[in-house]
Amino acid sequence: MSAPDETPAPRDFIRHIVAADLAAGKNGGRVVTRFPPEPNGHLHIGHTKAICLDFGVAEENDGVCHLRFDDTNPTAEEGAYVDAIKEDLHWLGFDWGEYEYYASDYFDQLYALAVKLIEKGKAFVCDLSSEEIAARRGSLTEPGTHSPYRDRSVEENIDLFARMKAGEFENGERTLRAKIDMGSPNLALRDPILYRVHKVPHHRTGNAWNIYPMYDFAHSLSDSIEGITHSLCTLEFVDRRALYDWILDSLEVPCHPQQIEFARLNLSHTVMSKRVLKGLVDRGIVAGWDDPRMPTISGMRRRGYPPTALRRFVTEVGVAKRENTIELARLEASVREELNRTALRRMAVLRPLRVVIENYPEGEVEHLPAVNNPEDEAAGSRDVPFTRELYIERDDFLEDPPKKFFRLAPGREVRLRYAYFITCTDVVKDANGEVVELRCTYDPATRGGDAPDGRKVKGTLHWVSAPESIAAEVRLYATLFSVEDPLDVPEGEDFTASLNPDSLEVVEGARLEPALAEAVPGDRVQFERTGYFCVDPDSTPDANVWNRAVTLRDTWAKVSRKG
Ligand code: ATP
Ligand code: MG
Repeated sequence: MSAPDETPAPRDFIRHIVAADLAAGKNGGRVVTRFPPEPNGHLHIGHTKAICLDFGVAEENDGVCHLRFDDTNPTAEEGAYVDAIKEDLHWLGFDWGEYEYYASDYFDQLYALAVKLIEKGKAFVCDLSSEEIAARRGSLTEPGTHSPYRDRSVEENIDLFARMKAGEFENGERTLRAKIDMGSPNLALRDPILYRVHKVPHHRTGNAWNIYPMYDFAHSLSDSIEGITHSLCTLEFVDRRALYDWILDSLEVPCHPQQIEFARLNLSHTVMSKRVLKGLVDRGIVAGWDDPRMPTISGMRRRGYPPTALRRFVTEVGVAKRENTIELARLEASVREELNRTALRRMAVLRPLRVVIENYPEGEVEHLPAVNNPEDEAAGSRDVPFTRELYIERDDFLEDPPKKFFRLAPGREVRLRYAYFITCTDVVKDANGEVVELRCTYDPATRGGDAPDGRKVKGTLHWVSAPESIAAEVRLYATLFSVEDPLDVPEGEDFTASLNPDSLEVVEGARLEPALAEAVPGDRVQFERTGYFCVDPDSTPDANVWNRAVTLRDTWAKVSRKG
């Protein structure tokens, strides 16, 4: 049901618990997990950790992992997000088969269970507003205050709850609250809200409901209804485990799953909250959920990150109980490592400078073999056309080179990869004194890139034929934020102040070797010397658009660490 990973996940504390449960014969030897996204946005890289854990633990134990949409808040949720989440999960390599569920499918059951709680005297309808409830909640040092409505009779509660459902009250006018303990040291147990009036149409149930269950009520009972054995969630739910257990213990339910919390994945220079990411989309700060600068799975897919690299990354980070922040550079290293093994090498000149080989015949096209991937012999080779007019990278030439510059300069000889040695004989400038063309000669004896007389050159440049190359737009990315922890801002200040103004650079007029004309959106290659690139869905056969996934080396991490 899940994609096999190259390396098995190491035994972490959750896998130990599951193994111990199996050894003890708990749950009849079954392992059933669930991944429970709220469809209020696209998944991000943090979710990948939960996904690999939920699906991985099930897979390793011949169990199943349910995909359950936690769709209990119709204000923020949309059907389009459901589709996006499913697409991302499939792309990551996970399949839940027939086990697709929606909390909204349980609305009738959940309502009936809430009535049961009322009948048991364990829930009451409260007329306080959410502000009044919050004000009476107390603090870690002060107990809370009872609601004046706490001692309503069962009959009155049942009647009021039915009228909440029937739509007799407006949003915020009534809630259903658990009757637990206003003096509990755990604030989650101070008569928490279980249902609220919320007259908003739902993307699946339409106008059928005027009340919606709160997360804790819906989640614990959905887990039980589905026969989940291990309910894995992030650490912020530690305090709410007592409520999870209270709800299940207070009702006659089919089973009582075990909630286990683990540390969420945090990445430097990144925000990871659907709500915050949605803000970036809605404010037009990024082009959309799948903007290649976004930490979303759809953004990373568009940028050219392979799913295997994401999975390996979260496996290597591991599962623990302590919060920490992982350097974004580590994710990039995983991507680089994967693409180094798998991506074909191609030549592309991002910022072209014209080169004319004066002693090469006009109109002639010569096809030179070039290796597709030195890491993978089976990848073979392709031919690249060589002509009298070529392009090299603008910054591979300096008229006045400093000592350590080994690329092209007046009078200097360099190698053109897979082709010939060339020597720069003259420099052509425009009226502003800018170099617009280089005149060169080539040595026909160096075909393939070696001199028979054994003479060496210090520089090897990538290049493309001017007439035989194709045009492209290339988009280069840097981190979206220029500080490590973008949300670490003083009260009242906008975190967008730390957005990196240079996170996107659009390079128009790049030239690509003709073999790239056949690339289709999603294809990933290495442009020699400039990075790993992926064809963007904006690409058309006439207008190629490429995204740089990562550079060839970790160039920014060292410089930007201080922010
Ligand atoms: P967000 O704030 O980004 O919306 P969430 O926790 O509200 O996150 P859900 O859709 O409710 O998002 O999450 C589905 C599952 O993914 C939950 O079990 C949640 O604990 C887990 N999850 C979310 N963010 C992370 C993260 N950064 N690292 C690991 N797991 C995560
Ligand atoms: Mg959430």
